[in-house]
Amino acid sequence: MTVAILGAGQLGRMLALAGYPLGLRFRLLDPAPASPAAALAEQLVGPFDQPEALAQLAEGAACITYEFENVPVEAARLLDRHAPVLPPPAALEASQDRLVEKRFFQGLGVATPPFASVESYAELEAALADLGAPAVLKTRRMGYDGKGQQVIRSAGEAQAAWGALGGQPLILEGFVRFRRELSILAARGRGGELAFYPLVENHHREGILRRSNAPAPGVSPALQQQAEQIAQAALAALGYVGVLAIELFETEAGLLVNEMAPRVHNSGHWSIEGAETSQFENHLRAICGMPLGSAAARGHSVMLNIIGTLPDTEALLRIPGAHLHLYGKQPRPGRKLGHLTVCADTEAELAKRVALAEPLIAP
Ligand code: AMP
Repeated sequence: MTVAILGAGQLGRMLALAGYPLGLRFRLLDPAPASPAAALAEQLVGPFDQPEALAQLAEGAACITYEFENVPVEAARLLDRHAPVLPPPAALEASQDRLVEKRFFQGLGVATPPFASVESYAELEAALADLGAPAVLKTRRMGYDGKGQQVIRSAGEAQAAWGALGGQPLILEGFVRFRRELSILAARGRGGELAFYPLVENHHREGILRRSNAPAPGVSPALQQQAEQIAQAALAALGYVGVLAIELFETEAGLLVNEMAPRVHNSGHWSIEGAETSQFENHLRAICGMPLGSAAARGHSVMLNIIGTLPDTEALLRIPGAHLHLYGKQPRPGRKLGHLTVCADTEAELAKRVALAEPLIAP
């Protein structure tokens, strides 16, 4: 069975690595040659909006998936005529635009930070008066890793934020004083069966994920249940098949949805070694119509992203319970080059091991 993937970055690479033991084959399409997945699967080089490239990608594929959410929706709909595109194109549509996404969750009765649409400076002033400062002004589209965002600390900073981002559709969000950032990953199979990963605690720096603690410490059954209910509502509304990631803010009033990604997610990389079934395997099982595997954690894990420069990998490999993943990318500031997952049976043992790893990765 061949699975076609739009995008051939590290997520495509890790999907392929998880799929070979299941007997799957992979064909990937990416505009960039020699992408991380190219070394281990058939990669086609071409743009996502070229019908010939898309037809070539879909040729003989049992199903088609994607590893990043900014694939043109039209391309996904075109491909859907060849073979099922999963997660469904509706999930792409709902997640590509922050305003549409927030309204989607609002429509499900799920709490989000307060928000307002901003198309002009007058609308920005009105939204700021309404939501109050501080607030976060974001582009509605193509934002990732904190790009396309400006924090407005007081009304006096509105002009500068507009200068930086104005001229495109924007969204203003109230600034949430969250306790911490969490994410929930869930898988839904073709028959509607569900698997939920435990909540994960995420730490960002400069808008980029640096560390995930899995399972997130100190999560009550009620909080896990609230997160699962949010995920379940989104999965059902979208007729979803595959893995969905939802980023959350934990506040005194409970969970607020920040955003979702209709794909495998960086905050789920720990699951390769730290869960009964990895997010990559469960995504493939779901889209290929296979039974889902358990998403339960095995012990405790910390995932550390390797960003910008390559660390001393030999020293990392000497740490007990450490699992290194390099993506075969050239170092560049801010670029995700790999990750390390450290596992242990107890939180105390994990803390010792992470204390050895962290200085090597983020000196
Ligand atoms: P995003 O690209 O929307 O995930 O935002 C990147 C990071 O900015 C998040 O992980 C948060 O740390 C922070 N952030 C985004 N939106 C808000 C908000 N409304 N209030 C406070 N912090 C935010």
